[in-house]
Amino acid sequence: MKIALIDVPYRNRESINKDVNGGYGTITSVGNSPFARLIEYMKKSNVKLPLISFGYLAAIFSKKGFDVYFKTNENLAPDTNIVIIYGSMVGSKSEIEFAKKLKKRYPDCSIGFIGPFPSSKPELFIEHCDFIINGEPEQVALNATEKWKPEGIIKSKFVEDLDSLPFPKWDIFPHSKFSYFPVIKEKPFSVIQSSRGCSFSCGYYCPYVAAQGNKLRHRSISSVIEEIKYLKRKFNVKGFLFRDPLFSSNIKRAGDIAQAIIDNNLNVKWACETRLDLLNKSLIDLFYAAGLRSINVGIESQDEEVLRKSQRKSIKKVHQEEIISYCDKKGIKISAFYMLGLESDTKKSIMKTINYAKKLNTHVAQFTITTPIPGTPFYEDFKDKVTTNDFEKYSNYNLVFEHSNLSEKELMKLKEKAFVSYYFRPRYMFSFFKRMFF
Ligand code: SF4
Repeated sequence: MKIALIDVPYRNRESINKDVNGGYGTITSVGNSPFARLIEYMKKSNVKLPLISFGYLAAIFSKKGFDVYFKTNENLAPDTNIVIIYGSMVGSKSEIEFAKKLKKRYPDCSIGFIGPFPSSKPELFIEHCDFIINGEPEQVALNATEKWKPEGIIKSKFVEDLDSLPFPKWDIFPHSKFSYFPVIKEKPFSVIQSSRGCSFSCGYYCPYVAAQGNKLRHRSISSVIEEIKYLKRKFNVKGFLFRDPLFSSNIKRAGDIAQAIIDNNLNVKWACETRLDLLNKSLIDLFYAAGLRSINVGIESQDEEVLRKSQRKSIKKVHQEEIISYCDKKGIKISAFYMLGLESDTKKSIMKTINYAKKLNTHVAQFTITTPIPGTPFYEDFKDKVTTNDFEKYSNYNLVFEHSNLSEKELMKLKEKAFVSYYFRPRYMFSFFKRMFF
């Protein structure tokens, strides 16, 4: 059995980060001014994250003795039986075109898609391919045999026991290019997923919950530590990112992982994503001692009422500010995410959010536009208000639904203003150089 895993290039670019945004992918788009273009360029060129589900599939297939390889073009190896294309939302048009061409060229091959977007919108893909794996693809892969010929929409369940999966097999991918610069400078760099799922109410709009469900699934600490050791042994990895939606969802467990990294002298630098109300100073001290150097956090909006209406549990501002300032003093870089155009946002509330972002003055600030993502309850509730079915526009940087208070033009202007006025400030520039070089 020979299987190709394909990440289809997006337009003239080598690849886009399809693993982010819950696996739906995103393409940063800041605006049209020269300053906006510069910010866009900086953000696009430095982060290269692998598709974690491809890493797991490669490991599962190769453990079964199948010949599995990775490609970004149409030239398949002779006798390939199955092609699995990663289906993103932002690159969906190019991916479907690619599948059509491939089918013409290799009619005997079974060609299909995986990914949360094809899972939530299979009707867009199925007439152009032979199969779609709907759900986490590992379960279906675990049951594959030498005679496997996938067809139609194949339902795949969540993997309940994440420890039962082999470690992702990165050696068939361009692993030397994996990068999370500048927040993690150490290379070789890789990714680890220690848990899946999230039970917070913001799952209403969150793509991670659409893809991974609202039930937390944690790997054992020993399995996580063994994977770090394996990455160090095999690839000499010095830095990595935990690809968990909420790394400290269980504060004790997260602390135990950090303690085990210290006890095993793993000497790595790492980053994670979590909520600020799941962090405290002693946990941060422990994380730092274990090599944590960067945290991604969602602030979304400064307005508690706006957050409440979007089903996001707000976090006390005094706690947010205290934790961010504590991390900054320790040398932990914070990337803060803001959502502009939440359902009840107004121009005034957005301006306050932008000013609040400047007050927090984190190393990275990402201003996205609220997007109803297929597979989320938010999308179901707003189905009748979406203004386009061109899903390449659902990149989190365009307005794709009728907003009650803001036009598309207003929001795009506010987004550009947010980025440019945030990054081109003397206080930010001073902090940037201090954080990077001192
Ligand atoms: S806490 Fe984060 S990961 Fe969890 S549902 Fe909310 S936005 Fe998603």
